[in-house]
Amino acid sequence: MTSDVTRLSAAEQAKLFASGEVSSVELVTAHLDRIEAVEPQLNAFIHVSAEVALEQARQVDAQRAQGEISSPLAGVPIAVKDIVVTKDVVTTAASKILEGWVPPYDATIVEKIKAAGLPILGKTNLDEFAMGSSTEHSAYGNTANPWDLERIPGGSGGGSAAAVAAFEAPLAIGTDTGGSIRQPAAVTGSVGVKPTYGGVSRYGLIAMASSLDQAGPVTRTVLDSALLHEIIGGYDPHDSTSINEPLPSLVAAAQQGATGDLTGVRIGVVRELSGEGYQVGVSKSFEESLDLLRAAGAEITEVSCPHFPSALSAYYLIMPSEASSNLAKFDGMRFGLRVEPEDGPVTAERVMSATRGAGFGDEVKRRIILGTYALSAGYYDAYYGSAQKVRTLIQRDFTAAFENVDVLVSPTAPTTAFKFGEKLDDPLAMYLNDVATIPANLAGVPGISLPSGLSDDGLPVGFQILAPAKADDRLYRVGAALEKALENKWGGPLLSQAPELEVK
Ligand code: GLN
Repeated sequence: MTSDVTRLSAAEQAKLFASGEVSSVELVTAHLDRIEAVEPQLNAFIHVSAEVALEQARQVDAQRAQGEISSPLAGVPIAVKDIVVTKDVVTTAASKILEGWVPPYDATIVEKIKAAGLPILGKTNLDEFAMGSSTEHSAYGNTANPWDLERIPGGSGGGSAAAVAAFEAPLAIGTDTGGSIRQPAAVTGSVGVKPTYGGVSRYGLIAMASSLDQAGPVTRTVLDSALLHEIIGGYDPHDSTSINEPLPSLVAAAQQGATGDLTGVRIGVVRELSGEGYQVGVSKSFEESLDLLRAAGAEITEVSCPHFPSALSAYYLIMPSEASSNLAKFDGMRFGLRVEPEDGPVTAERVMSATRGAGFGDEVKRRIILGTYALSAGYYDAYYGSAQKVRTLIQRDFTAAFENVDVLVSPTAPTTAFKFGEKLDDPLAMYLNDVATIPANLAGVPGISLPSGLSDDGLPVGFQILAPAKADDRLYRVGAALEKALENKWGGPLLSQAPELEVK
């Protein structure tokens, strides 16, 4: 047994737990110690729930003593993005408007995580209401990228990705509306999966854009994502868009991929997701991964998805339209913050206005204004209506492409992690981070990002794989094969090349 369990993958930790070599309390304690040591530099968590985690760990240990191991990841701790509601544990969505709000129920995925015996270490930082690509729009401060503390960890789920990449947690939950699992995974050297829309319950996610939102795993290995995906996935009657069909076997697909053989697998490189705007080192790392996939037996061709260049524009109309409706419920009456007007009468409308004025940050306000404008009478057809048509065209691009290939691939993000403040005053530059990830959300198809190496600036690059809806297993097969080939090349996981954080 290695002396530091936090360096092991979740699957390895679970094995030690199941064989009785380590207890869940020991695993949780090791991670809480690591959190205490590095959090002052990272700020990956909004809230660490140490007592709750230890209590859960004691229960899991007691179950094991009775011969009961509730899942393949039992005993292993996890962190949860703070936009997923947790019963009796503060949930803020990184917004001041929800400060101190304690949800009365658990999200379905949290129920499943608890039932599977995974103690919850705490709630991770994000851009307010998951709106952003850098975690700089959090009301609770920036999260640093473990590779370079002056750089962003991606967003919106920068907290989950940083926590996993810095060994504060072996597993985390993220949510992905336009890339918030995959892009943070890419810039921190971790693995992130956006499942098929409807494949993982949205019940208990604080909604950003309901037709795009999807929760999924953030981990350090492809197999760990498959294991966690199988735990959180599946039908939920509480979510009307939940798919009522069995999930394909994801762990088996990851294991098959890990044999390194991709003979007969057809991979399409998306022509529109490369070239101009992509950092040279990102493109280079992407090409090297293609060579490895070819060497593993895959057949690689170029595929055109002609409407992808319009995806970003369509997304920035559809997403704010849905978000402006979803965020109407934060009115100063029902949840969290309530601010009364400084002077004048205390009417419902004036309390709402004062609360929303003080409680929402600038980016959230920007999107509410954009969304209400796009939906307003006279503009609806021109903006929202056109965006929905583009959405259909993008779905058709995917359908046509998947007639000829099994998966599509691209770099996950056009650049590596940028410095704090670099894009904060330029919303359009910030939005461009999502060019490669957004098409999957618009079409509801699944995607994975895994580390493909370091760019010329020494920072991690993400490789994205996209599959048809309900064929999430393909992500794991191809992802595990690439991971294996890359590890053989580097002599170990990419994260072992990350600089050591100073331990306080
Ligand atoms: N960065 C994108 C945005 O700002 C995606 C957010 C997300 O996936 N939650 O909307």
